[in-house]
Amino acid sequence: MREERLTPADRTRMHIPARRYNALIIAAGFGVFGVLTLTNAPLWDHRSPLELWVLAGLVIAGEMLPIRYTRNGEMSEVVTSTTFSFALLLSWGIAPALLAQVTASLVADLARRKSWWKTAFNAAQYAICLGAAHVVLQLTTGIPRAISPHFLPRDLPFVILAMVALLVLNLVVTGVGMALHHHRSITGFLRDDLSSSLFGDGVLLLLSPVSLIVAEVDLWFLLLLLVPLAGVYILTHENSKLVARLRRQADQNRHQALHDPLTNLPNRTLLQDRIQQGIFRAERDGHRLALMMMDLDRFKEVNDALGHHSGDVLLKQIAKRLRRALRQSDTVARLGGDEFAVLLPHVTDPSAAIAIAEKLAESLREPFAISELSLEARGSIGIALYPDHASDMGPLVQRADVAMYAAKNGPRSWELYATEQDQQSPGRLALVAQLRHAIDHEELVLHYQPKGELSSHRVKSVEALARWRHPRNGIMLPDDFIPLAEHTGLIRPLTLYALNSALKQCRAWEEQGLDLNVAVNLSPQSLLDLQLPEEVQGLLERWKVPATRLKLEITESSIMADPMRAMRVLNELSGMGIGVSIDDFGTGYTSLAYLKRLPIDEIKIDKSLVSHITTNQSDDVIVRSIVELGRNLGLEVVAEGVEDKATWDRLATFGCDTAQGYYLADPMTPNELASWLQGAGQQIQIPFRTI
Ligand code: C2E
Ligand code: MG
Ligand code: MG
Repeated sequence: MREERLTPADRTRMHIPARRYNALIIAAGFGVFGVLTLTNAPLWDHRSPLELWVLAGLVIAGEMLPIRYTRNGEMSEVVTSTTFSFALLLSWGIAPALLAQVTASLVADLARRKSWWKTAFNAAQYAICLGAAHVVLQLTTGIPRAISPHFLPRDLPFVILAMVALLVLNLVVTGVGMALHHHRSITGFLRDDLSSSLFGDGVLLLLSPVSLIVAEVDLWFLLLLLVPLAGVYILTHENSKLVARLRRQADQNRHQALHDPLTNLPNRTLLQDRIQQGIFRAERDGHRLALMMMDLDRFKEVNDALGHHSGDVLLKQIAKRLRRALRQSDTVARLGGDEFAVLLPHVTDPSAAIAIAEKLAESLREPFAISELSLEARGSIGIALYPDHASDMGPLVQRADVAMYAAKNGPRSWELYATEQDQQSPGRLALVAQLRHAIDHEELVLHYQPKGELSSHRVKSVEALARWRHPRNGIMLPDDFIPLAEHTGLIRPLTLYALNSALKQCRAWEEQGLDLNVAVNLSPQSLLDLQLPEEVQGLLERWKVPATRLKLEITESSIMADPMRAMRVLNELSGMGIGVSIDDFGTGYTSLAYLKRLPIDEIKIDKSLVSHITTNQSDDVIVRSIVELGRNLGLEVVAEGVEDKATWDRLATFGCDTAQGYYLADPMTPNELASWLQGAGQQIQIPFRTI
């Protein structure tokens, strides 16, 4: 149920308990004041009235000159007046103590132009607290006594009990008032305040008996006690440099606790607070709120390839663009790493939130200039709305997260939360964790599929294809985990793992006397990884495999993602003697001009074209043209997905160099491959597949 909009009358009604409480305290306080001052005469005995006037003066001075300090990064203040009014209570009785304290409170509050009810409330609560301390002393020790000394060591526990009564009552009386005023839970408010109040006021109150003992020896000795207090006061005075520094420090601490140091955007803590406040307001005023979670798609790669400094520069620029795309009242927060969140405290409908998500995605589209490179960043944005998708902060955050994962795997840069997304996401998240584990624990294996020469019927090379031996799901194929790895930053370790295993295997074949080259597939991200050539070099050296034995299969689209950068990586790899093959050729849009400029050795015609050449006239023409084109450019041409003899024969008539497919053999484990090769003696007998 949503609350209706509040009218001023409602608001007034909401403050009624606080007002009633204030009136009650004021009445009680002045009642206590009247009764106790009229029924308890001061103890004049033999002492000089000067001591009384000095203490009373100190009560007023203490109230007028609060001492400021910082605690947990917050500025607080304490007054020293109760130290001396409590001393008056111990030596002269409740009447002078009350008169001095209530007068001090009234004078100080009037001087600060506080409202009449606050002024009255403060004076009243002092009266109640001192009154309570007086009652405790009367019931336990009978202090004040008309004889000197005013109290003995055995009185001390009761004196401290009276102090505790004063402090606790002070805390409760003001705490309840504040909680009612701010509509917060009373116990919560008291708990928050307890430690700081008891600390500040309690320490000062302990000076009361000390001040009396000092005054008893000689009033002038009180000065000795006042010197440190005055020193603290002067140091912490409004205009002192120390206060200015403390205040700056407190502001800085508060800012640091709530902001991300790199981008200066609000951090998770501040965001959570704003979401909570936003939900309260949206609930009260009956409107929607949108929360968006955003994750950058290729950030890890930038960090890995260009170093953390460039990663930081990119994050800062992204933060700036996001901020610029939004209104002042919206919040952009950085949650860590490459995760950002956006809070729109007031949206009319889902389409308004979607429009903003599109605007944010658009703001990142323009390339970023980092380390003399032009980088593109893409974010995946998940949107969840209050109250449509969740009525509390926790579930709202979680749903925006779920929508973000959906966006990562979808064609658009944003997704609005939908219940179906929830069903697969926990499973996906678990799968990511398992994949990470699989890479580290060799659950990932490579199967090898031979490529056969159409003219000679010989196998000179194999393609390494990843398989995941999942403990529960059985053998999983790349389509079920490569995209997941690509979206979660796991593709880099996966690629390195595949390269390492393939080269290790190559070494083993060499030792077995098998003359086999190996091809490894690269994901688009790997091709943009500027560190890749160096890493490949390291692995070649590690396994003592000549670079010419290795071929890397890349797709057309991965080159087009960032042609300049891809070219740089490719040139380096090719310069090392590594072969480069364009995989799935014919499905993308690589221009012929590009092909000529790229350092490539081979094109692999996509199986979707190859598998229909014997039945589809246009596929036949296309494949034949590609073969011709490749040969004219001096490239080796491979046809993949060859499943039957007719296709094999047709490709041979086109002059295609090599064929790969089930007709020849499935992808196999190294052992299976070894016995298959032995059977064929690397001379293909072309066993007919019946499946
Ligand atoms: P790809 O590089 O085009 O590999 C050829 C795919 O076709 C393989 O699928 C292979 O098993 C399958 N195939 C082989 N012969 C035939 C046939 O006669 N007919 C048909 N219909 N299919 C055939 P697989 O192993 O499921 O791999 C799928 C894709 O996953 C690969 O396509 C490659 O792009 C990617 N991939 C595989 N291993 C890795 C890896 O280690 N790293 C990366 N980045 N990608 C990999
Ligand atoms: Mg391939
Ligand atoms: Mg392919």
